[in-house]
Amino acid sequence: MIKEEIFVTKPYLPPKEEYEEYLKYIWESRHLTNNGKLLMEFIGKLSELMGVKQCLPMSNGHMALELMLQAFGLSGEVITTPYTFASTTHAIVRNGLTPVFCDIRESDCTMDPDKIEALITEKTSAIVPVHVYGMPCDVEAIEAIAKKHNLKVIYDAAHAFGETINGRNVAQFGDASMFSFHATKCFTSIEGGCAVAKDPDVMLRIYQLQNFGIMDEENVVFVGANAKMNEFQAAMGLCNLKHFEENTLRRKAVVEHYVEKLEGIEGLRFFDYKSDSVTFNYSYFPIFIDKDKYGLSRDDVYKYLLENNVHARKYFYPITSEFECYKDCGFKGNVSVAKRMSECVLTLPLYVDLDLEIVDDICDLLRNASAMVKKS
Ligand SMILES: *Cc1c(COP(=O)(O)O)cnc(C)c1O
Repeated sequence: MIKEEIFVTKPYLPPKEEYEEYLKYIWESRHLTNNGKLLMEFIGKLSELMGVKQCLPMSNGHMALELMLQAFGLSGEVITTPYTFASTTHAIVRNGLTPVFCDIRESDCTMDPDKIEALITEKTSAIVPVHVYGMPCDVEAIEAIAKKHNLKVIYDAAHAFGETINGRNVAQFGDASMFSFHATKCFTSIEGGCAVAKDPDVMLRIYQLQNFGIMDEENVVFVGANAKMNEFQAAMGLCNLKHFEENTLRRKAVVEHYVEKLEGIEGLRFFDYKSDSVTFNYSYFPIFIDKDKYGLSRDDVYKYLLENNVHARKYFYPITSEFECYKDCGFKGNVSVAKRMSECVLTLPLYVDLDLEIVDDICDLLRNASAMVKKS
């Protein structure tokens, strides 16, 4: 039994004085939202980090995705993955589009490029893959298919902030990407998110859509929403950006500790974080439990950890295609791998200041649970 309750994540907060510096400025300027100076500064720093010409931080990641899809003027069907957070599928459906679910790869839980083409019809307008857990999709294969069929690729990159693929920031792939800066994500502006699109016309539409579709004082050109980032969020983003690199290293140490301690436990699988092509942000540590080999089911392990004060989470279970709200929609797609992975996954606690001794304790629990059932 671990003495304190351990949650799957704990938001990082910067030293209070650093945030207070920005608060001083906000109090002096009395500029709270609508293109404040801190937001402008945040945009500059983010664009630089991501190596993109334009980006737009917004109130949250979900609205960034929803409005981004709207900005592309998509219609008909969108090929996507059900192995994700509710937001991805909701953003598609709330745009009046029909999700067509593509199965995932067992190796990294991202969309399986070999299964995309069979799902393309004359109604397909885009592909919305997810860099789930910060595992980058096979961007080359996906974008080659999209090019061949003249489809947009819009990534849900909510988990992938700061990562690079072959030396290029993940934000540079596809037609557009959405990042989430929610408190539970590896980089946070309390609530928040960011839209990145290559086409400046699309970027302008996103900008107008997140401010009620207003073009100027007398012209409203789109049925927009309100998804602007305020100065308090931008200030938190600016503070946290300064600590992003060191925080990533600290999470990396936690992940490496997990890997070292869990290696060799029969029936437990986790991702390989050694890669020549990808730099990870180490946001999540999912494990996949093979009941036959490990001796306990995912749900048994979940309960056992909880009894010992460890709040692991079933990210991502159930898959979005099984949500009650989509039950009677008849959305298409054979997603047997996604379903199987969602039934055996458990995401373990991982955050910047997670004590390595607690990681040891969690790993001991996982090792002993299996040993105990095998003995009996
Ligand atoms: C967190 C998340 C979102 C939504 O981001 P918010 O900032 O919480 O609105 C979308 N997609 C995925 C995969 C996420 O994990």
